[in-house]
Amino acid sequence: MIISTYDPEHLHPSFGIDLGDVDLGPVEAFGVGAAFARVPPGRHSDPHQHDETETFVIFKGQGDIVVDSKRTPITAPMVVQFEPFETHYLDNTGDSDIFFTTFYWRDSPRAAKKAPRTDRRRFDDRPIFVFSTPPTPNGGLHIGHLSGPYLGTDAFVRFQRMNGAEAYHLAATDDFQSYVAECARQEGRSPQEVAESYAAEISETLAAMDIHPDQVNHTSKEPGYSGALQAFFTRLVDSGLVTRQEGPALFDGETGQYLYEPYIGGGCPACGNEAGGNICEICGEPNFCVDLADPQPTIGTATPRQGTIERYTLPLHELRDDLLAHHAVGRAPAKVRELANRIFSRERMDMALTHPSDWGVRPVQDDVPGQVIWVWIELGFGFIYGIETLGRKLGKDWRVSDPQDNWKIVHFLGYDNTFYHSIFSPALYKIASPGWTPDIDYNVNEFYLLDGDKFSTSRRHVIWGKDILTPDNVDAIRFYLSLTRPETRRTNFTLEGYDAVVRQTLVGTWQRWLDDLGSRVERHYGGTVRDAGIWTPEHTAFLASLENWLGVLTNALGQDGFSLNRAAAALDGLVTDTLRFSAFEAATADLPDWKDETRTAIALELAAAKLLARCAAPVMPRFAARLAAALGQEEPAQWPKLVTLIPPGTKINLAGQVFFLDPAPAGGSGGSSTRASTVPADGDLLPWLTGVVTEALAGEGGEPDPESTLVALGLNSMQAIALQYQILQRTGADVAIDDLLGDRTLAELAELLAKHEQAAGDAAETVPANKATNHAEVVV
Ligand SMILES: [Zn+2]
Repeated sequence: MIISTYDPEHLHPSFGIDLGDVDLGPVEAFGVGAAFARVPPGRHSDPHQHDETETFVIFKGQGDIVVDSKRTPITAPMVVQFEPFETHYLDNTGDSDIFFTTFYWRDSPRAAKKAPRTDRRRFDDRPIFVFSTPPTPNGGLHIGHLSGPYLGTDAFVRFQRMNGAEAYHLAATDDFQSYVAECARQEGRSPQEVAESYAAEISETLAAMDIHPDQVNHTSKEPGYSGALQAFFTRLVDSGLVTRQEGPALFDGETGQYLYEPYIGGGCPACGNEAGGNICEICGEPNFCVDLADPQPTIGTATPRQGTIERYTLPLHELRDDLLAHHAVGRAPAKVRELANRIFSRERMDMALTHPSDWGVRPVQDDVPGQVIWVWIELGFGFIYGIETLGRKLGKDWRVSDPQDNWKIVHFLGYDNTFYHSIFSPALYKIASPGWTPDIDYNVNEFYLLDGDKFSTSRRHVIWGKDILTPDNVDAIRFYLSLTRPETRRTNFTLEGYDAVVRQTLVGTWQRWLDDLGSRVERHYGGTVRDAGIWTPEHTAFLASLENWLGVLTNALGQDGFSLNRAAAALDGLVTDTLRFSAFEAATADLPDWKDETRTAIALELAAAKLLARCAAPVMPRFAARLAAALGQEEPAQWPKLVTLIPPGTKINLAGQVFFLDPAPAGGSGGSSTRASTVPADGDLLPWLTGVVTEALAGEGGEPDPESTLVALGLNSMQAIALQYQILQRTGADVAIDDLLGDRTLAELAELLAKHEQAAGDAAETVPANKATNHAEVVV
């Protein structure tokens, strides 16, 4: 027997409270760890999650236990049991110490079962506010912008909604950025005009990308916005932490203009790379302009002079512990925590919160004349203001002045904004609303390069969303951006790479498989789904494999491990895996003795297509809806829990469907003109096909009879492959070997090819001619 006695003299701070040792013998012997714990009044343990199962035995005091943001009152004596991975903490709201003993042990099977849960872990039944970073309206949105926060937020919200969550996409334009004022100066317009015209362009581009936020605030036009921002700023000042301080600043050597943000650049004091005023895009660290190495003005050439100025200032370093605790509440990726570690290793971080400017919102405090509230305060403020305005629309009492612990906030942002999102904004929340424990997930992306170089508007090294997006290619672009967006490292966009993925993956593999599957269902069953028959071991294994793909996709799109790179790769993996299965099954597909097994194989391929339609919905909503319709299914609105077969008797219409267009068909520039020169314009492909078949048969058997099948004419499978290649090269139609060796006659095949021609031609005509010009312009 081992006895442990509580000793108030031997407590140590841990998890934000006081812990004392409990000796239960070695953990490896007994499997259980334990500790005495004391939570003083007004304190709480640090929110955290872990894989162990844990039990609190509370023997004195009262307060709240908070699990995944849900508060439950507790009064001693009481026992509380936690599941693995639940975010939990104990909050002492009473006026005397809470004493409890915690027991924890690792139950691996239980943790393994909890980890892949697709339900509402951490999100519960809370409203989920998903923010795409507010763009600065000093330009439109290019492919780099779109690939990052905007596509991320849209797919995230779509997936959450398919799982029944109350999720909202909130967006804004960051009108009062100094970069808008600078753009206005360059364009000879007013900042308001600039903000409005680019805000309109940004909205159009998002719509063209099939991204429709639930709430968009244009900060310079929103009635009530400035007043609410001033009230927020006043709460910061009233805290006593934000005060007027004289500090060093840079001024233009000739005009005396205050230099910050777009008006100054130099060597980053943290990493040495070229940085702009106030932030370094490379290492993510803020600077104070005066600490830039060899600072250079962006207007004029006079050497900046250093002076001093009185501004409202926040000693950010004093909030270090609060911010580190904040990063333990939600999903803060390692790179976010690493940046915080770097920033808080500095001794002091005195951040100016007001700056001299004519563009922005002035504080009601009139003791800093000519200064505006720093626009980066608007970022954090703007998020909760967006929640309030959305709430007004929905009839919900969500208020900036009273943010709620049950709000689940998710941010999508570029790495260069990490400091403002994940450190500066939560610091402001801590000061303005000390009682609020904001629960925020950060989804951060790196830079996307274009042809190996940074997107640059000034050098015209850019592909604007409005120039490339059309209703016909939006899903192909969403797929390619999902596949290649810079999630863990910088990645590169090239038009050639995009074209190749569309041609080889979406048209050459996905569409070809679906078309072929549709043709087989037509040939075998007249276009109606038959029930599965006899199952072989390989059939069972393939069903299990489909379940695995569903698991991978659920994990890749879910809140804990969201990654569009992985989701797009898994969608393709699902198709590739199905093609492999299909190729194996093809050997017996036409043998009457195995028709019941063939029924099962085709039912499984159709189940794979149905799974593809549902799982592609967050990434490629148009394709998903069209594929579902072709399979006789409703538009995918729910995320599947299981892989299911399409009910027998369902009519499907998959053959010949054009979901994706080859962006520039093989055979050189202008695919359609290449085709026009090799095939007759009147659409009668029989003479041409007869010639090609004669070639493939190597002249054996004379002129083929149009009413014969190719098999009857003596075509073997090797010759069929050669023929398939010829047809693809010269007409762009990708006809399955099955079709070539099936029971279609030569004349019927010619007709089928003409149908393909027609469909591809129709689709191509809907793409405005100037799109192609824009491609060329950008690539050159
Ligand atoms: Zn740097």
